Amino acid sequence: MRAMTLREAKRPLVLEERPLPEPGPGQVRIRVEASGVCRTDQHIADGELPPPRLPLVLGHQIVGRVDALGPGVENRKVGERVGVGWLGWTCGQCKFCRRGEENLCPRARFTGYHLDGGFAEFALAFADYTYPLPEAGDPVKMAPWMCAGLTGFRSYRFVRDKNLLGFYGFGAAAHLLAQVARFEGKRFFAFVRPGDEEAKAFAREMGAQWVGDSTEAPPEPMEGAIVFAPVGALIPEALKHLEPGGTLVLGGIYMSPVPEMPYDLLWHERKIRSVANLTREDARLFLEIAPKVPVTPEVEVFPLEAANDALDALRTGKLRGSAVLVP
Ligand SMILES: [Zn+2]
Ligand SMILES: [Zn+2]
Repeated sequence: MRAMTLREAKRPLVLEERPLPEPGPGQVRIRVEASGVCRTDQHIADGELPPPRLPLVLGHQIVGRVDALGPGVENRKVGERVGVGWLGWTCGQCKFCRRGEENLCPRARFTGYHLDGGFAEFALAFADYTYPLPEAGDPVKMAPWMCAGLTGFRSYRFVRDKNLLGFYGFGAAAHLLAQVARFEGKRFFAFVRPGDEEAKAFAREMGAQWVGDSTEAPPEPMEGAIVFAPVGALIPEALKHLEPGGTLVLGGIYMSPVPEMPYDLLWHERKIRSVANLTREDARLFLEIAPKVPVTPEVEVFPLEAANDALDALRTGKLRGSAVLVP
């Protein structure tokens, strides 16, 4: 099979011929139909998130068809369409796993990080960490569901009981959650990088009630907000516009240092919480609602061989929505 492989961090991915992988116990082999490119892939390729092993196949937003079953797999069938996300395996034994916080499992293995991912014609995945996807759907449009959607939805769950939300950073995740929020009858505001007129127009198209620079005040206080931009200075900015009792969710892996701020901004039971990885329950809940909305990402399609171009487009911020590779 062909794979775009990371052989060395900070170097472009390399197109390789590899032997077809054989599924081990509990695994399935998937013939990849589409594979999303996420900012985390770019961070790994650039060595900001050091790859735990090399060579490595990146990609944790896989849509494809089950092509072979490993020993002991009974919950998947050959030919079935499935998706795979960042959560590749958890231990099931630790206290986090036992209390439903498998996203915090210290032994968790992540797709396209510890396990080879989807920037290839075929990928292996543990069957219990694959999710059935609609047979009729467009695989290219479903690929961004698998991270921007699933992991983004974990952030959304912490403000799902609110009716007026704010999104700081309106990219891959926010533009999917905005569709869910609208479907659920919520209103939302979008905050973008100062001067980014294109992002403003995009957020308006996606139904934002008000769009502004991240330093601007919205027309009314919000009940909840999610920060996807990796900018710590946005925390006091967002708190200024949050109602008493409001929740501020930090949806990214990275964030620049959080500035000192007056306690007033946090007082009145405002909450700040970070979000790490995802659980299969997050995936189940998102995949239950996504086809009903239907959540439709803006995508830019690249052939598998052009994975480096897709990563470049992410680096330079030239993408509207999500990049998807098609083998
Ligand atoms: Zn991701
Ligand atoms: Zn565990």
